[in-house]
Amino acid sequence: MNVKNILDFNYNDLKKYLTENIGLEKYRTDQICDWIYKKKIFDFQEMTNLSKTDRDILTENFQISIPYLIKKQVSKVDGTTKYLFELEDGNTVESVLIFYPNRTIACISSQVGCPLKCEFCSTGQSGFIRNLSSGEIIGQLLAIEKDKNLEINNVVYMGMGEPLLNFDNVIRSIEILNDPKMKRLGARHITISTAGIPHKIEELAEYKKEIRLSVSLHAPTNAQRNKIMPVNHKYTIEQVVQACKIYQEKTNKRVTFEYILIKGFNDTKEDALKLADLIGNMKAMVNLIPINENPAGFEKPSKRFIEIFLDTLIKAGIDAVVRAEKGSDILAACGQLRLKKIGVSYK
Ligand code: SAH
Repeated sequence: MNVKNILDFNYNDLKKYLTENIGLEKYRTDQICDWIYKKKIFDFQEMTNLSKTDRDILTENFQISIPYLIKKQVSKVDGTTKYLFELEDGNTVESVLIFYPNRTIACISSQVGCPLKCEFCSTGQSGFIRNLSSGEIIGQLLAIEKDKNLEINNVVYMGMGEPLLNFDNVIRSIEILNDPKMKRLGARHITISTAGIPHKIEELAEYKKEIRLSVSLHAPTNAQRNKIMPVNHKYTIEQVVQACKIYQEKTNKRVTFEYILIKGFNDTKEDALKLADLIGNMKAMVNLIPINENPAGFEKPSKRFIEIFLDTLIKAGIDAVVRAEKGSDILAACGQLRLKKIGVSYK
C-alpha cells in the first residue's frame, strides 16, 4: 500500500481523501487536523476521540512525517535555536527558531541545497539535491513547535533553497499554514524570500493571500550583482525590479529588499544613491544586513559606512533599517545554514 505523508495535504484535499478514499466521516478531518496542528500529536493511535477502526485505517494509509531531529544548537546570546533535521530519504535540512519580543519566527528551508550558488551563501556551496515536499516544509515547523512546546507565529522562507523554484509545494505549504482548520497562521505573518525569479514573482502577484515578499537584491547594478549572484546573468536587476513593481501595484503591498553590505564592494554612498534610484518609484523598504560569515570571505563594512549608507537611503526617501543579527554564536543567521552531515556543519 502506498503510504502518504498527511502533511502534504491541504484541507480540501485531505477531506476529500479521507471521505472518498478511506471512508471516514467528514467531521473527522477537523478532529485529525486539530490533533496534528494544534495538539502536536503525531501518532494516530494517540488520537483518542477516533475509533480504533479509524485509527487503524489512518495508520495503514498515512504517515505523519515529522523530520527527525539530529542536532540542535541554542544561542547563549538570544536563545536563537538552530535545528538539523533528517528527512525520510536521509537528506538533511536546517531550520532556525528566532525570538523577538512577542514573536517567534521560524526560518524554514524549501529545498535540500540550492541551485543558485550565490557567492556569499553557504547553502549553495553544497549544490542542489532536490525540492522539499509541502509536508517536509510544514514538518520543520511542527517539529520545532513540539520540541519547544510553543506556537510559532511568523514563518519566513529564508532557510535553505530558493522558494520560487519550488513554487507549487511552497504555495501548498502556505495554504496549510494559513488554513483556519490547520496551522491558523495569518498570511501577513508569512514571508517568502527570493533571489528574484521575475515570472514567478508575477505569478505570486496573482495569488490572493496577503503574504509578504522579500527580494534579495544585494547590489545596485548588474555589473556588481553578476559578481555575487550568478542568477543575475539569467534575470537582470531591471527585470527583477520591474517584476517587483508589478507585484507591488497588483497587491498594493510593500516589497522588502534585502541588501547585504559587503566591505569595499557595495557599501559606498554612491551605491546607496544608485539603489535609491533603482527602487525609488515604488512602495518598498530596504533591510540592510552587514554580511554574516560566508564562504567567499567577504567582510562587514565599518559602522561608519553602514551609517552613511542607511542615512543616504533615508534622505533619498527610502524606508530602510539595519537588521539586527540573531544567533551569532551558533552561525544561525541568514545564509549560514549549511548542508552537511551531522557534526561537520557546526565546527
Ligand atoms: N533563496 C532565497 C531564500 C534563502 S536565503 C533568497 O535568496 O532570498 C535567505 C537570505 O539570506 C537571502 O536574503 C540571502 O541573500 C541571505 N544570505 C545568504 N548568505 C548570507 C550571508 N553570508 N550574510 C547575510 N545574508 C546572507
